[in-house]
Amino acid sequence: MDDSKVIAGGQSLVPLMKLRLFSPANVIDLGRIPGLSYIRKTKGRLLIGSMTTHNEVASSPIVNKSCEALSEAASLIGDQQVRNRGTIGGTVCHADPVADIPAVMLALDAEFEIAGRSKGRTVVARHFFKDVFTTSLRKDEILTEVRVPILPPRSGGTYMKLERGAGDMAIVGVAATVTLDKAGAFKDVRLGLAGVGPTAIRATKAEDALKGKKPSEHLVAEAGEIASEASSPTSDIRGSAEYKREMVKVYVRRAITQSLSRI
Ligand SMILES: Cc1cc2nc3c(=O)[nH]c(=O)nc-3n(C[C@H](O)[C@H](O)[C@H](O)COP(=O)(O)OP(=O)(O)OC[C@H]3O[C@@H](n4cnc5c(N)ncnc54)[C@H](O)[C@@H]3O)c2cc1C
Repeated sequence: MDDSKVIAGGQSLVPLMKLRLFSPANVIDLGRIPGLSYIRKTKGRLLIGSMTTHNEVASSPIVNKSCEALSEAASLIGDQQVRNRGTIGGTVCHADPVADIPAVMLALDAEFEIAGRSKGRTVVARHFFKDVFTTSLRKDEILTEVRVPILPPRSGGTYMKLERGAGDMAIVGVAATVTLDKAGAFKDVRLGLAGVGPTAIRATKAEDALKGKKPSEHLVAEAGEIASEASSPTSDIRGSAEYKREMVKVYVRRAITQSLSRI
């Protein structure tokens, strides 16, 4: 049905409908489909059903142990009521540029399992977020599972968020994962930024500036500068574009430093 919308936790869809910004003819409740809510650890990956709530992600010992960045981001979403209803699939498909989880999905190199009328398909996070509130999901498709690769040894990660008050959307959010090689140099670095572009963005130039080099205060600060140049924030009620760009520098630096401290 063309004029239909699926609903998960309703924490983004219902406010839009209440404001009459969106009036689908039919609302289809994914909560009626069994088996979409779970967290499992398999060989090298976390598998999370799309209907798993933010609260379930935030309070899962498996997620906390294997993926601190995701655990932290989920615990920073809204308030307890929002976390009890909102789902990982809902926030990924809603693709709000100021949401927390999409930036984490980029930094974790997550994959999304998608089901539709035709054969299912898998889309990597960096190809999923297309524009403001726009993803590569087709009209007849739903997201069923989020797959998160577990970081190799000598890795650390985090999600840090600057917000106006507890539970608000991000002014700037930074997800970081770092892996060091045996000599102590950056082997892999991934940075996902929230709130500073039309979608969550990967700061790839900043990542490349670190790879192969040994961590130092100067290098990490430089990565913050490069990430800030790659961001394209707009001025709004949460702050001016200039302020957000400055905060990208600070939060990228802090997120990399925190990730390093967790190795
Ligand atoms: C007061 C408040 C504070 C909030 N604070 C934050 C915050 O700090 N950080 C943050 O990131 N978010 C925040 N949110 C948003 C919250 O995270 C929502 O849970 C999330 O954006 C949407 O998840 P949902 O399950 O409620 O999705 P819904 O509202 O049910 O759906 C959102 C959209 O995604 C589509 N959709 C949902 N699930 C699927 C699926 N499996 N497949 C295909 N399409 C799907 C729906 O059709 C709809 O278009 C806040 C919301 C509120 C109300």
